[in-house]
This record gives sequence, structure tokens and C-alpha cells, in this order.
Amino acid sequence: MITYNNHSSSCVECNVTIDSKVLNYSIEHFRHPLCRECQDWLRDIHEYSSATEESINLYFALKKREVPAELEKDDGFKTIDIAVPHAKVNIEVDGRHHNYSPKQALSDLKRTLYSFKKGYTTLRIPNSLVKDDLEKAADLITDYLITSRDTKKKRY
Ligand SMILES: [Zn+2]
Repeated sequence: MITYNNHSSSCVECNVTIDSKVLNYSIEHFRHPLCRECQDWLRDIHEYSSATEESINLYFALKKREVPAELEKDDGFKTIDIAVPHAKVNIEVDGRHHNYSPKQALSDLKRTLYSFKKGYTTLRIPNSLVKDDLEKAADLITDYLITSRDTKKKRY
């Protein structure tokens, strides 16, 4: 992305100010504006976690909407693709095998129940939606998160 003014931007992950050199490098290599430290963090996610491209893209689309999301969060039982503890919602970005494998479906159901007992709802988003209509999906998910946050605030 080229900008007319050479103003500074901020890291989408930690909000620190980044100069145009870091910004350009980050966009080129990671497709998102990240400071050097967060570039290292994302590099590790790519290398050592099972996070998919779709899950990472959705994560950054939510960060852009100022959602306090966490990528690849370990809740002690399993790793959640995208967790939003503030709204008490877990987001799982699922590939096809979640629909076709009964074993996977049963394991998903157990995870959903485990989270629900702790007060968390699980939102399952198919990979195909993230690929085809990321921005619209991110808007609807953000709306869902706001509603969940406000409903839970009222109840407790
Ligand atoms: Zn950063």
C-alpha cells in the first residue's frame, strides 16, 4: 500500500507507532502492519502453531475493528483459534474435515461443552466464509461479540 503522506502508522497488534520502512516490510512479508516484535511473534505463530491462514486473517480483521481478540489461546484444555475473553466468546475457524469427520465433530462438541460450562459460547466460522467474504463476516462477528459482551454485563 502506498500512502501520499509519509505519516507514521501503528502496529495492529500492540498499537506501537511504526515508521514507513517497518510498515512496508511488514505489509510485504506479513500482509498486516506490525512492529518488529510483533513480526517475530507472528513468525513464531506461522512456524510453531497450527493456526491457519484463514484464522490469522480473521484475527487481524477483528483487531482492525478494535476487538480485544487473542490468537491461539490455550485455555488449559485445548488451543482456541481466536479467543475473546472480554465478550466470553471463543471463535473456531473450521475447515471441511469438521463437517465430514464424526470423530472430529464429537471432539468439537466436547470442547464446546467444556467452554460453555465455563461461561463461553463458541462461534464456528467456516474457512470458506473467511476466504470469500472476510470483511462482511468480521462485521457480523463483531456485532455478535458486542451483543455477547453487553448481555453478559447485564446478567452479572
Ligand atoms: Zn506490535
